[in-house]
This record gives sequence, C-alpha cells and structure tokens, in this order.
Amino acid sequence: MSPLFRETALHAYLRVTGRHRRALARRFAARKSFPGAILFYHRVADQFPNDWTISSRNFLKHLDWLEDRFEFVSLDDTVSSQKLGERDRPTVHLTFDDGYADNMVLALPELIRRAIPATYFVSTRYVEDQCPFPHDLARGRPLAPNSIDDIQSLADSGVTIGAHSHSHLDFGQKWTRSVLVAEIVDVRKKLQDWTGQSIDYFAFPFGLPHNISQAAIDVVYEAGYRAFVSAAGGFNFPGDDYFHLQRIHADPGMAALMNWLTFDPRKTMRPSPLRYTYPSLASHYFSVDPELVAT
Ligand SMILES: [Zn+2]
Repeated sequence: MSPLFRETALHAYLRVTGRHRRALARRFAARKSFPGAILFYHRVADQFPNDWTISSRNFLKHLDWLEDRFEFVSLDDTVSSQKLGERDRPTVHLTFDDGYADNMVLALPELIRRAIPATYFVSTRYVEDQCPFPHDLARGRPLAPNSIDDIQSLADSGVTIGAHSHSHLDFGQKWTRSVLVAEIVDVRKKLQDWTGQSIDYFAFPFGLPHNISQAAIDVVYEAGYRAFVSAAGGFNFPGDDYFHLQRIHADPGMAALMNWLTFDPRKTMRPSPLRYTYPSLASHYFSVDPELVAT
C-alpha cells in the first residue's frame, strides 16, 4: 500500500468512526479512565529519510497537534496514574530511541524550548565509540550517534535519559546472565555517571514481543529500574501493568498519529497482547479493566 493511499484511507476511517471515538472519550472522562499515550520517535532530520526518520516540519506539526489536545506528562506521572488506577485527562509522553546526533538540531531544542517532558533512550556503545548503528550500516547509510557531551547537556536541560542497552541487543535471543547484566545493569550505572541523573527507565531495543524475554525483564527489575517500555503499539490503561509501559510508533505520518490518539476503537478496546509476570512482585501486576475489553 502506498503511503499516500494509506494516509487517505486512514483519514476516511477517522471520519467514519468519529462518533464512536467521541463516545469513547466521554466514557473515559466519566470514569477517569483515559489511557496514557507514550509515543516513540527515533530521528528528526531532513536528510537521508528512512522508516525511523520524521522530517522537522512533520515533527513540529505533531507537537502543535498534540499541544492542543493533550497534557504532556513525564514517565513518572504516567506510572503514578497507572498505580492510582485513574487518569482524568488525556496525557501523552514523548520518547526517542537509539541516540541520533541529528536530534540535537531541531527536535530536542524545540522540546526544551516548549518545556515538553521527554525521555531519551540511549544505547551507550554507539555514543562511546562514535560508530553507526548496525541497522543503518545494513542499509548502507551510516548515521552519526550522539556524543557523551550531547547526553550530558540534554540531562542538564531537563531531558530524562533512559537506557536502551549497551549494544542495541535483541533480548529475544538467549543470552547468558553476564551479558544481561552488562547490557541492563552496567548501562544504568554508566548513564548515571554520565548524567548525574537516576536512570529509571529501560527501553527494549526493537521492542516487539519476540525481542523481549522474561529473563531480561527479571534483570531489568532487579537492576532497580522503575519500569520498562516496549514498542509494539498500545495504550496504558490506568490500573493496568505499571512496570511495562506500552508505546506507539510516531515516526509514520500524521494520519497514523491522529488515528491512534483520537482513540481508534480497534486499538482502545482490545486487551494488550503482551502479558508479563514479575515473580518477585506478585501484587505489582493488574489486568486490563474487563469492562473496557468486553464492550
Ligand atoms: Zn532502538
């Protein structure tokens, strides 16, 4: 499907389902049960676009659209309303994965200027060694990573820094405990040394269910992170799991963002396909409100 056809089809779907979406929003308001949205971007740039790049113009359009409709909150606030079991307004949090130098040109300065909370998930190997990511090399287009100075200055400007492993590991594969510790625990310490911040959130590279293992989640928990984020697309319903926060991919076009965030009935009514357990944390886990799922 061409991007233009997809954009047109999504706008048509938005129109047809408008009444249903407004009814859902009224119900969320009445029950203080607004789902929390967390978006993830990778790279805001106008050169060498790929599937994980959004143009400066489109990124600014996203910010303007979101600013009119949502309260921007921190990840800490999202976790708090998950725990509390209620959210009385639509909220959104912005995140970035990997750590591309291009983000220092427009995206991060603009977020800082507008005082929009953001979490910047970094894979430390590429920052340290100043080498491109394997997924960019594989496409024949090496792109510059952030420097340690970049990460420090972002932290100093109030951007929350998060961990995205050391080497952008696929945790869906079987790894020894020492690898898991190096990629999850040691990275937390390193980022804390770089920034002086407490590093409280971990983003699984690739972020789909097959890139996440229970063994890795256990190490994330033991390492002292407050929560981890995935990337399979999903909302965070108040009262639901607050150690695993779901995110929505925001790099695609405006229609996809609008479709998600005006509460696509197909996406807001289905239970999450991702179910993890925290053995050391029996009371930590809650299920989705069954009323929301059943109707
Ligand atoms: Zn990544």
